[in-house]
Amino acid sequence: MHLDPFELHRPASVDETVRLAHDLAGRFDYLAGGTDLLPNYKMHLNLRPHLIALEDVPELRGHAPDRIGAMCRLADLEADATFLGRYPVLADAVREVATPLVRASGTVGGNLLVETRCFFFNQSYFWRASLGFCLKADGTECHVVPQKEKCYATFSGDLAPALMALDAEVETAGPEGRRRRPIGELYDAKGDGIRRVTLAPGELVVAIHLPAEAARRRGRYKKLRVRPSYDFPELGVAVAGVWDGARVDALRLAVGGVDPHPRRFDDLTDALVGGTLGDDRVRALGEEVARRVRPVHNTFLQADYRRRMVAVYVRRALAEARAPGAG
Ligand SMILES: Cc1cc2nc3c(=O)[nH]c(=O)nc-3n(C[C@H](O)[C@H](O)[C@H](O)COP(=O)(O)OP(=O)(O)OC[C@H]3O[C@@H](n4cnc5c(N)ncnc54)[C@H](O)[C@@H]3O)c2cc1C
Ligand code: SF4
Repeated sequence: MHLDPFELHRPASVDETVRLAHDLAGRFDYLAGGTDLLPNYKMHLNLRPHLIALEDVPELRGHAPDRIGAMCRLADLEADATFLGRYPVLADAVREVATPLVRASGTVGGNLLVETRCFFFNQSYFWRASLGFCLKADGTECHVVPQKEKCYATFSGDLAPALMALDAEVETAGPEGRRRRPIGELYDAKGDGIRRVTLAPGELVVAIHLPAEAARRRGRYKKLRVRPSYDFPELGVAVAGVWDGARVDALRLAVGGVDPHPRRFDDLTDALVGGTLGDDRVRALGEEVARRVRPVHNTFLQADYRRRMVAVYVRRALAEARAPGAG
């Protein structure tokens, strides 16, 4: 597999990046660490002739206790024990992404916008050509759910559920200026595996903001994957809450790896706040989340197995998050 030629642009500020994106509309991708984008380019998946590298934009770099720049490397977060100690659910998720080598280049912004996955899509050009291309790249039909309208590829980033459980916000910049919104709103709940985010054309992620309340939350991220040293999530469950003994004072639960976008279940968790969280309630919560998610058979593990594991992972995540001394 080879990388086709492209023109590389290296803006030095957010404003310059947005201007360049406007000029190259529809003909470029942003390049962060390249650990997702460039392997996809090598497989000839939705190539663009221009790449806008974000490496030289100082505002996108670094992290502070309440802010993570989009170009912050996962390895830099991993090396900061004080930062991760504030956010145990995020610590779990960061450490579970890929391998140390990928985390050395992979960024937080890239992780939030990682391409959705499907075993008919993440294949070489020749593999796809032999079967017949699909709706998400070069073709007109879906092979998972045969029809021509919608893609069921799975959202497979690890950080989004953890950041959603912390009520993080995402700051973006685009032709219409800056905006800041809950991180869950970055994903299009009405979209699909192709139209998966709510970013306007040319809009880029600048930073993630963590509210003061997030540091009070004890949480866990539990990830189901085939090879623990390496693989994308087949399911990822993030919980974060504030507990007073058995009583729940705040609770968020977000799930990735089973739908085309990560999802939170506030109606279920809000109903538990103020009460005690016994085994029956935890079991009912897990079973209801499992009932609502919609995995399809487009990754290695069977959809039914992934669904059944949702309830198990909700139970495990909550048990660990609430254990004495957790986090
Ligand atoms: C072997 C292997 C295993 C992996 N396993 C996992 C895993 O277990 N879990 C997981 O979550 N990921 C996994 N990944 C995917 C990927 O490496 C990580 O998600 C990584 O964090 C992506 O970051 P990046 O900076 O390399 O993104 P890039 O590849 O540079 O970009 C990814 C996408 O985001 C867009 N983008 C990047 N930054 C911005 C921005 N600031 N604003 C707007 N758009 C932007 C790019 O245009 C591109 O579409 C794996 C990758 C490999 C190669
Ligand atoms: S879900 Fe269907 S359209 Fe989407 S990548 Fe898979 S085969 Fe292609």
